[in-house]
Amino acid sequence: MRAYSLIAINNLEYIETDIPNCKEGWAIVKVKASGICSSDIPRVFETGTYHFPTIPGHEFAGIVEKVGSIDDLKLVGKHVGVFPLIPCKKCLQCKQGHYEMCSDYDYLGSRRDGGFAEYVAVPVWNLIEINEQIKFEEAAMLEPLSVALHAIKNCSLKNSDRVAIVGTGMIGFAAAQWAKVYGVKDVTVIGRSKGKKILADRISVNYCVMNSLDDEFDVVIEAVGSNKAVDLSIKLVRPYGTLVLMGNPEADIVLAQNTYWRILRKQLHLVGTWNSAYEKGKKCDWSEAIEAIENHRIDVSGFISHVFDQSQLKKGLDLMHGHTEPYCKVMTMWNTEDK
Ligand SMILES: [Zn+2]
Ligand SMILES: [Zn+2]
Repeated sequence: MRAYSLIAINNLEYIETDIPNCKEGWAIVKVKASGICSSDIPRVFETGTYHFPTIPGHEFAGIVEKVGSIDDLKLVGKHVGVFPLIPCKKCLQCKQGHYEMCSDYDYLGSRRDGGFAEYVAVPVWNLIEINEQIKFEEAAMLEPLSVALHAIKNCSLKNSDRVAIVGTGMIGFAAAQWAKVYGVKDVTVIGRSKGKKILADRISVNYCVMNSLDDEFDVVIEAVGSNKAVDLSIKLVRPYGTLVLMGNPEADIVLAQNTYWRILRKQLHLVGTWNSAYEKGKKCDWSEAIEAIENHRIDVSGFISHVFDQSQLKKGLDLMHGHTEPYCKVMTMWNTEDK
């Protein structure tokens, strides 16, 4: 099969390699769509991953090609999305079903081989069957959609809240849509430039450029993970308001004394949110995200700004790394020769 193997920092090779083995309780998924996550950019270009070589990619969907146990044979040929975190199921958090906080997890696309490949080995527990009406590229966005939903559920919004989301990536716009689904009327997305206003218009939320703001919001969701965005978010929350920290930090976040004081003086409520809640076959962030795609309560396709064939994946990575064009979700399509 063809795959992208990260063999060293800033050294991703498009290689020919063996299709992974299928162990008992596992399945081989034939990848059809694989999204590039903003966390893949530092992983590929700057920090590397836990070990080399590793095939990155954790936002993917496809078709079950093969299974390791006879009991799972009915899965072959099914369309699936994939929960990329493989929990230990032994630690305290796992025992309580909070797999996203597992202390000893494995992860497709960072700790083990992931979705920038024609085939991936995935535990059957991590497969989420989707109906064939959902496009693979939509199902490949279940992970960011679920992460955004998790954040929204963590901050108990009221319909009357004025909610701002700082950041215009896929997760930021997904959070804005979930806030609306959860009944909030006044939702504002805050970006660096006017460029992404068109995406806010698509989902009928307000759009503001960072520097032009001296408003105060009841709830501010930080969806970038940069120092600048954290500073701005702290500034934008009203006294007694709620600050939700969702963006994965790109580096150390350092707060100036005055910024720190704002948290104290305004007596802010700080909410951390991490990953998403998943439980096989039960109602969870992932099942809710699938339902929202199915009944068109959430627009996902509209946030795919770029689509590349698998052979052009590096173009997508370069575009995101260099910010050479405005983008939202960059998607790659795999195994396109068969339908
Ligand atoms: Zn991701
Ligand atoms: Zn665990």
